[in-house]
Amino acid sequence: MEITIHQALLDPGLEKVNVGVDGGKIAIITREALPEGDTAIQADGQLLVPPFFEPHFHLDNPLLWGEVNSSGTLREAIQIYARIKKDRDPGDLVRCASIAVRESLAHGVLWFRTHVDIDPSVGLRLLQAVVEVKRKFAGVMDIQVIAFPQLGMARSPETVELMYAAMENGADLVGGIPHHERDMQDAARQVEIIFDIAKKYHAGIDMHVDEDDDPNWQSLELLADKTLQEGYQGRVNASHCCSIAAWDAATFNRIIPKVAAAGVSITTNPLTNLVGQGRGDQPPARRGVPPLDRLVRAGVNVAVAHDDLKNMFYPFGNMNPLYAANVAAHAGYLTTPDLIRQAFEMPGYHAAQVFGIQHYGLQPGYPANLLLLPVQSDLDALRLCPAPTLVMRQGRILARTQVQRTFDDCVPL
Ligand SMILES: [Zn+2]
Repeated sequence: MEITIHQALLDPGLEKVNVGVDGGKIAIITREALPEGDTAIQADGQLLVPPFFEPHFHLDNPLLWGEVNSSGTLREAIQIYARIKKDRDPGDLVRCASIAVRESLAHGVLWFRTHVDIDPSVGLRLLQAVVEVKRKFAGVMDIQVIAFPQLGMARSPETVELMYAAMENGADLVGGIPHHERDMQDAARQVEIIFDIAKKYHAGIDMHVDEDDDPNWQSLELLADKTLQEGYQGRVNASHCCSIAAWDAATFNRIIPKVAAAGVSITTNPLTNLVGQGRGDQPPARRGVPPLDRLVRAGVNVAVAHDDLKNMFYPFGNMNPLYAANVAAHAGYLTTPDLIRQAFEMPGYHAAQVFGIQHYGLQPGYPANLLLLPVQSDLDALRLCPAPTLVMRQGRILARTQVQRTFDDCVPL
């Protein structure tokens, strides 16, 4: 056996197992003793889980921390970025994006989706730089690029041509932002255009949807209806969906069953949206995150993503998917054991559904994609958000993190 892992705690059953990896695949998972392989890893009871996903990020703008977003709103962040992005040096973009990708990898992410702004002010320049990052990390991180028409398309008709050009020049999926159109009628027009583009390229769809506090934004319903009408079930993801938190019960009960029926996943971005949304509210205060407990209980597949890293949109972030799941759990009231489990699966099993990944999980015969987390339960993984001590992709060890902590003798036990 090329690699053996000894005494790992297999998630979710938590039995101690030994794992053999050969030819890039998991060859065996057994409770029985396993002879040491060419490389033998002592897991010492660390939790063994499959790797994570980053389903929603913007590689064109991480680490652009500088110009202060005084209001803290999404609107001001977009204005600041609009001033910067026109003159962005592609070399600097690639450098910052690469830092974000490497941080993700160190935290156990092997699959990554990035939006990239496509609009008349930048043309395809940001896309070209992000595609360069995708090529650079090929074989290490699977990066899917989403063409993102930040300014809308009904409102900015020149962007439509650019979106087609983006699909010809390295974009993998079609993005959108219907709530940045003038009204729901124009939002419907944008959704039409998005499906036209997606169908031409047989591409998936991954949109910013209703990232707003206004309950009158209900473009999620347009998207669910259109997905059913076009037979696109399972190939559409809606990110943000903040306005759900402002909907009344009748609206929620009308739209959300359609979302579930259409197989439209919702990826929440609690880190950014908790600081960017709901700032104008008097109580009852909206917090920018859809009611995750109710979505999960309604049978919706909910993933979680980072969205931004230390920039004008969001000052924090560390590319650790467990941290994002932790914040989602806080914002979404995911505090009972079954809901904590759901939160833990958001960057893993749930995001795998977003990506449509086959053979995701820990099974003999599956690719040897796995992580070792230095914790003993899903709750502790969410609570402590540790970096994996080992990140393996197809039998190759790509990253290891060792954190050493010592206490002075004066500190009592
Ligand atoms: Zn976003």
